[in-house]
Amino acid sequence: MIQTKGYATHDKNAKFSEFNFERRDVGANDILIDIEWAGICHSDIHQAKAEWEPMVPSLYPMVPGHEIVGRVSQVGDSVTKFKVGDFAGIGCFVDSCRECGACHGGVEQYCIKGSAQTYNSTEMDRTTPTYGGYSKHYVIDQNYALKVNAVEDRSGIAPLLCAGITTYSPLKRWGAGPGKTVAVAGLGGLGHMGVKIAAAMGAEVTVLSTSPSKEADARKLGATGFINTKDSDAVKAATGTFDILLDTISANHDYGTYLSMVTLNGVMVIVGVPTEPTPLNAFSLIGGNKILAGSMIGGIPETQEMLDFCAEHNVVSDVEVISPDQIEAAYDRTIKSDVRYRFVIDMQNA
Ligand SMILES: [Zn+2]
Ligand SMILES: [Zn+2]
Repeated sequence: MIQTKGYATHDKNAKFSEFNFERRDVGANDILIDIEWAGICHSDIHQAKAEWEPMVPSLYPMVPGHEIVGRVSQVGDSVTKFKVGDFAGIGCFVDSCRECGACHGGVEQYCIKGSAQTYNSTEMDRTTPTYGGYSKHYVIDQNYALKVNAVEDRSGIAPLLCAGITTYSPLKRWGAGPGKTVAVAGLGGLGHMGVKIAAAMGAEVTVLSTSPSKEADARKLGATGFINTKDSDAVKAATGTFDILLDTISANHDYGTYLSMVTLNGVMVIVGVPTEPTPLNAFSLIGGNKILAGSMIGGIPETQEMLDFCAEHNVVSDVEVISPDQIEAAYDRTIKSDVRYRFVIDMQNA
């Protein structure tokens, strides 16, 4: 076994302290990654604070982190995808059954047996706990790791592994590109990636937000339009405007209001997870032959495609780098939406 160190919370108070634990030895198909950067995703906070129970039980001690970038420091005998010194990424899952239709189709996140999540989960043996990226090392099968470009500053790449693919996949699926109007609802960690990626795809992007103060940022990120959704006249004026509305909002909100801004035959895709179920009037779909869709991260092939797309278009996340002793403060600020736009933990000197 490989001795390593992480930062764990031992209960739902989400107080982090050093945690020594072991990673498995590097098997024939495994790589060992020396973690450089670990993004803080809002789902880390939900799970650390046991806010998704009973749907997602929180297992303690918990080392969160599923936006991971690091350097490959060891490779197993059968590894062909990586060599020592390459850079690699890990997203939300680290293994899956490899046999079902979803796994064969490269959408392992929908594995019918349930994929092994990067943390707060177990390996496919359903016994060995998984610990995430707030740690010094990770051992992972090469087929579940992503190739990362050797650019100098890789801190902004880490959030692509969750926030990036979560927005890239639905934008791609629903045809974001030149001549298409895309609205991104909510300008947080997910939303800011949605704006950058949709703009890079060539779409015309509008941000929908309850915070008028975010307009300047929205335009800097690549949006050409901005609607303050508290301004009912502005919302009304946007009726039937957008081909694709990407909804990243995790606060409770009325889907009908947002669907009203979707064009005939258009689609609203939900990627944010409000805590409460939302009632929906059927007329808001029937009226314009509209689609209400969902999307959850992306499979390994599409995640690699997204990383390559972002490298080609110089798209990275806007990040604020912190040290591991600042995790709790970063959680507090993330909850208050006081981050532009993602905290990333520097694990190199941890
Ligand atoms: Zn995430
Ligand atoms: Zn499967």
